[in-house]
This record gives sequence, C-alpha cells and structure tokens, in this order.
Amino acid sequence: MIVLVLLGPPGSGKGTQAAKLADYLGAVHISTGEILRQEIKDATDLGHQAAAYMENGQLVPSSLMINFVAERLSEPDCQVGCLLDGFPRSVDQAQALDQQLGAQGAKLDLVLSLSVPREELERRMLERSRKEGRSDDTPATISKRFDVYQTTTEPLISYYQEKGLLHSIDGMGSPDEVFRQIKAAVDQFRNV
Ligand code: AMP
Repeated sequence: MIVLVLLGPPGSGKGTQAAKLADYLGAVHISTGEILRQEIKDATDLGHQAAAYMENGQLVPSSLMINFVAERLSEPDCQVGCLLDGFPRSVDQAQALDQQLGAQGAKLDLVLSLSVPREELERRMLERSRKEGRSDDTPATISKRFDVYQTTTEPLISYYQEKGLLHSIDGMGSPDEVFRQIKAAVDQFRNV
C-alpha cells in the first residue's frame, strides 16, 4: 500500500495533479473537498454540517473530517494505494493520519508539496471563479482561504520536512511540466 499526500495552497493545481497522479499509480484518489461538495449535493448529515464552513472559506472541524477519512482509508480499495488531496489540512489532522495508518500497519510514504507564488495563485483563483462559478471562489472567500492555508495548513510543510517525507515541487509550469516533476519524484521513491 503506497500512501501519498499532495499539499498545496488554493489555486496551486493540486486537484488536477492529484487526479493525474492517482491515475498514473492506479491508486485511489481521496479528495476531501470533492467528497464534501458531493455530501452537500446529497444533503447528508455531514454535508449539512460542512456547508457553512465551506461557504465562508473556513476549515470544516477536524472532529468531522478525521473519522470520515479514517473510515475511507480502511476500505479495501485503499489497500492498493491511495493519494490524499486536501487532507491533512492541519497538524492535528496529520497526527490523526499517522495514527490511523499505524493502526492499519501502514505508513505515509511521501508528501509532495506544490509551491506557487501568491500573486499567481490569486490570479488563477479569480479566473477559476469566473469559469467554474464554485460558490467558495468569491474574492472574499478566496482571501479567507489563503489566510486559513497560511496559518493552519502551511505548518505541515515543516512538520513533514522534519519527518524527511517532504518533496517540494515547483508549481509554476504548465500542468504537464508540473506533472513531469511529480512523476519523477514518485518514480524515484518507488525506484522505477
Ligand atoms: P478543496 O476542494 O480541497 O479546496 O476544499 C474545499 C473546502 O472544503 C475547504 O475550503 C474546506 O472548507 C473544506 N475542506 C476540504 N478538506 C478539508 C479538511 N481536510 N479539513 C477541513 N476542511 C476541509
């Protein structure tokens, strides 16, 4: 079971790259943002609880996310390997992930961190908001999501650096160029 985390600020291309990488590895792609959006559409309990946080650009409380992701990770299809996109988003979530994987006799193998300068991120997010109309892509929410990223998610970079798991990827190129770097990092890890 290979377990990877893809980290990146809003607008870094994380979702696109995660889908490509999961496909390349034949691994399960777990995007917590996508799952939450689907839960909202399906009007589930989790969806109801998550909606207001998401609309405001805040994180959904870890107490809701952790159990949910732990259950998903213990499903049989994840035995092949899984790629986490959007989780963990805070140090408490990262610790919970370590614990859950440990309980399953697995461990986190590699963390890929996409880095893109802030001005470029803002430009991409505003473009996405015009094209896709995602309800949490308004200028006010975008700015809130950057703040949340900086204060709560960015500390994960040093958390994983200290564990020797972090591999930094320059996210400024075209999607294909970025994916080439990701593939190289993963292939090096797998020795292929
Ligand atoms: P994303 O599609 O990854 O940008 O996620 C969209 C929104 O879903 C975020 O702004 C959060 O409100 C929520 N979300 C996704 N993943 C998590 C997580 N691991 N913890 C808390 N909230 C999350």
